[in-house]
Amino acid sequence: MRLPPCQAALCAAIGLNLLLLLCVWRWGTPQPPRPRAGGDNTAPGLTPGVTVLLREFEDFANDVPGVARSFAALRPPPPLLVVADETPYPPLPPLPPGARLLTLRPAPDRPPRLSRPELHVRTRHVALVPDGVRATPGHLERMRDALENGAGGAGDNTRVVAAPVRGPTPPRCLDLHVSLREWTARYTPAGPCRAVEGDAVLLLRTRDLFNLSFPLARPLPTALFMQAALRGWTVRLLPEAAFAARRPPPLATPHGRWKAEAAARARRRRLLADFGVKRVVLPEGRERWYGCGKETARCFGTVHARTPQYLHQDRWTPPCCLRALRATARRAAAVLAAAGVRYWLEGGSLLGAARHGDIIPWDYDVDLGIYREDAGKCRLLREAAAGAAVVDDEGFVWEKAPEGDFFRVHYSRLNRLHVDLWPFYPRDGVMTKDTWLGHRQDVEFPERFLQPLRPLPFAGFTAMAPNDVRAFLELKFGPGAIENPEYPNPAVKRLEREK
Ligand code: ZN
Ligand code: MG
Repeated sequence: MRLPPCQAALCAAIGLNLLLLLCVWRWGTPQPPRPRAGGDNTAPGLTPGVTVLLREFEDFANDVPGVARSFAALRPPPPLLVVADETPYPPLPPLPPGARLLTLRPAPDRPPRLSRPELHVRTRHVALVPDGVRATPGHLERMRDALENGAGGAGDNTRVVAAPVRGPTPPRCLDLHVSLREWTARYTPAGPCRAVEGDAVLLLRTRDLFNLSFPLARPLPTALFMQAALRGWTVRLLPEAAFAARRPPPLATPHGRWKAEAAARARRRRLLADFGVKRVVLPEGRERWYGCGKETARCFGTVHARTPQYLHQDRWTPPCCLRALRATARRAAAVLAAAGVRYWLEGGSLLGAARHGDIIPWDYDVDLGIYREDAGKCRLLREAAAGAAVVDDEGFVWEKAPEGDFFRVHYSRLNRLHVDLWPFYPRDGVMTKDTWLGHRQDVEFPERFLQPLRPLPFAGFTAMAPNDVRAFLELKFGPGAIENPEYPNPAVKRLEREK
């Protein structure tokens, strides 16, 4: 088919216009940036090699220039980055050519890329090097080969290779399990290697490092291993690639060590707060607590719709809070029993006792029923009823609840974790009370459940409970309450059952 000349000219003009339009559209639209670090490791933009990254050092005493010079002397010299939160003070002595100092804190007048180390790592691998380390030719390559060509069987998820730094105690592998739901990190001596205790050079893929939520948080090894454990990564310790270190170490004086330890403790505290880890179980079984105590506020704010904030974060009650609730419950029960006040486990607390002898792992308070006519036997309740908040000799605070006709025992003046005491009285054989909160379990019940009361293990002590726990709980919560756990207010947040 042949087109007349004028039609052909028209077609050509339209085609040209379309082409022009396409060009304008291409240039006018910002193209998504190509993934570099943080993208695929084999993606263009990352070149073979290992970048040496120095992150763990103290401003006031360090050997950063020494480490940098030692690695700069390797042939070929690896790229070298020193990363600090802000410009070190006192300033670092001059670094060898090729080494670069980056600060993570952005400044309002500086380009953002200056505070983003991931934009400055161009190699496929990164080695995180502790202060004072001396380079050994070939070690970084051995580590990289161990990572890329290692055992690597099915199910092997080695993403970090660790090389010891020579010192008085050789580093060792630990297993590490982090449960964010339980705000807990647990180290154990046996099991897969998920953390290294002691000084080590750590090598990983650039892509892996910068895909972590907190790639360069300090203390760097703690932060790295916890995030790695959460992702199911394992670590390979390479004892044959030990690095030498400067002697004496950069923090040789007692004062320097003391200052560094205090700074490290503060950083660890901040890190665990950022991660939401409140309890650390050490390999020997000792526990370290980073959560609330008597002198701090409760870990969570006012509870709305019976659903505490942590449930919305898919977490359960912080372990420090459970510990404080147990102590408060034990204290309240001891005081009531000593004064001759009849009490029993109520609601969710009785449910927890029936299920596993403890507070339900996501509960936020403890509930006890008491005979209203007995309240006057207890001095603390008498004074609380008169309107005063009373601090007992163990620092627990007893007061009348402002919300209605019941009492509260708080863990402390500052930490408002509490046990509620609900005064019931019998009327025609039925236990009733004056304040009702409209919860399903908040109902009257026959007094025979309390005649007699029976002992039941709860929260580490023996509490008193209604005599037919199952019937009592099914009356309050409905059939199957013991076997079918649910969050306090499923309409707001449901318990997701594990598959
Ligand atoms: Zn707490
Ligand atoms: Mg409760």
